[in-house]
Amino acid sequence: MRRRKIYEGKAKVLYEGPEPGTLVQYFKDDATAFNNQKQGTIRGKGVLNNRISEYLMTRLADIGIPTHLVRRLNMREQLIREVEIIPLEVIVRNVAAGSLSKRFGMQEGTPLPRAIIEFCLKNDELGDPLVTEEHITVFGWATVEDIDDIVQLALRINDFLTGLFLGIGIRLVDFKLEFGRIWNEDEMMIVLADEISPDSCRLWDLETDEKLDKDRFRRDLGRVEEGYQEIARRLGVLPEAGPVDLKGPKLMQ
Ligand code: C5P
Repeated sequence: MRRRKIYEGKAKVLYEGPEPGTLVQYFKDDATAFNNQKQGTIRGKGVLNNRISEYLMTRLADIGIPTHLVRRLNMREQLIREVEIIPLEVIVRNVAAGSLSKRFGMQEGTPLPRAIIEFCLKNDELGDPLVTEEHITVFGWATVEDIDDIVQLALRINDFLTGLFLGIGIRLVDFKLEFGRIWNEDEMMIVLADEISPDSCRLWDLETDEKLDKDRFRRDLGRVEEGYQEIARRLGVLPEAGPVDLKGPKLMQ
């Protein structure tokens, strides 16, 4: 099928959707880290992230969080609503790890007294720099009201997902969210966009602290595919046929 490509990112492609105001989001197996300096493929990742993100966004919609997801279409694609992406990466942290540990010299795994929200500008050339609310409003990336909505949504999402993951023996250490605007006549609504998956979350086994997320790829910890599969399995969304695409029956030579 030929269709118009709207945007290609590191892990996903967006195509024109079947109706105006919709897009098709395709999940690739490609992985990058450290602002594209490290590149690789995680076999079956796209299939698993499609399922995991569908599941988490559906559960979030159940508690009243507006999201861009319409429905999953197939192994690697979702139908989503077209949104005007707010150019911020909204990072929520419960436990010190990654760039926060590095910035402040804090041991990874130190619990934070309360959840922290950070904003980074979505800009690869600049390396997604950390920005303050002053930068966001002065440069017009979002208004004070938008930021207020985003913080409220991010904290509700954090509370809900923290509990959901605890229930399957996983600590939600930190994660990244993206939000977009949807216009309805003159009314604007902010909705959760992009994806929520082991690409965008740090997920540690509660008992062993084993990392079950993209840090296995970033840090060359090995058994990368298994981390994604374990998250899908515990969430109950591991496809029966396994994490690879169904290619139909294999013909005998
Ligand atoms: O690298 P850092 O510690 O700032 O990442 C915090 C969280 O945000 C991690 O869960 C990471 O996977 C996620 N993240 C992301 N995309 C980025 C940067 C961070 O999904 N560009």
